[in-house]
Amino acid sequence: MANFRHRLAKSQRRAYDRSNEIASLRLRATPRLARAVSLLPVALAGDYPTETERRRKVNKVAQVICDEVCQVMQVSPLRVTVKGVRPIRDDAEYHGLYVSEGRSHEITVWMYTAKRRQVVAPRTLLRTLVHELVHHLDYTKLELEESFHTDGFFKRESSLVRQVESAARRVAGAAPGRTGDALALKSPRANDAC
Ligand SMILES: [Zn+2]
Repeated sequence: MANFRHRLAKSQRRAYDRSNEIASLRLRATPRLARAVSLLPVALAGDYPTETERRRKVNKVAQVICDEVCQVMQVSPLRVTVKGVRPIRDDAEYHGLYVSEGRSHEITVWMYTAKRRQVVAPRTLLRTLVHELVHHLDYTKLELEESFHTDGFFKRESSLVRQVESAARRVAGAAPGRTGDALALKSPRANDAC
């Protein structure tokens, strides 16, 4: 990391250092956000007539998670697309992608593993979504010039995952058995693939 930072231009180094300094983001999780997070495993594991239907349902839940996070954090909304099998490029298996161009902000996540083509674990998908959201928040909330994978970045990611998961657990604990009802079931500035 130190070598990487060393190669950066001065203005990039400022963004890098600021990114590294911020270890958490406080998120006041709304009940809708908590419900959507608790529904993600349900949507992934459900019985559907087709896999397209599964993907549509997961996409709907993922979109609510992103809508709520963006609203609570008071940043521009973004569009989520859930796709099928993770692509492999340069020997790396893509989990998610964030692209921001002008006013258009988009997250893509894939819901089947590349080799075995299994549905990804709910926690993995949630973390991928949050990872891409952290890129979005880097630009829109922290107003960083670039969004680097610093130690601080991963700490922010973990802090958001912890907060939404604990909100989801509270909702599940408060209303057991009711988790299924709420959702019934230039060049790109950033192009992140993880
Ligand atoms: Zn990333």
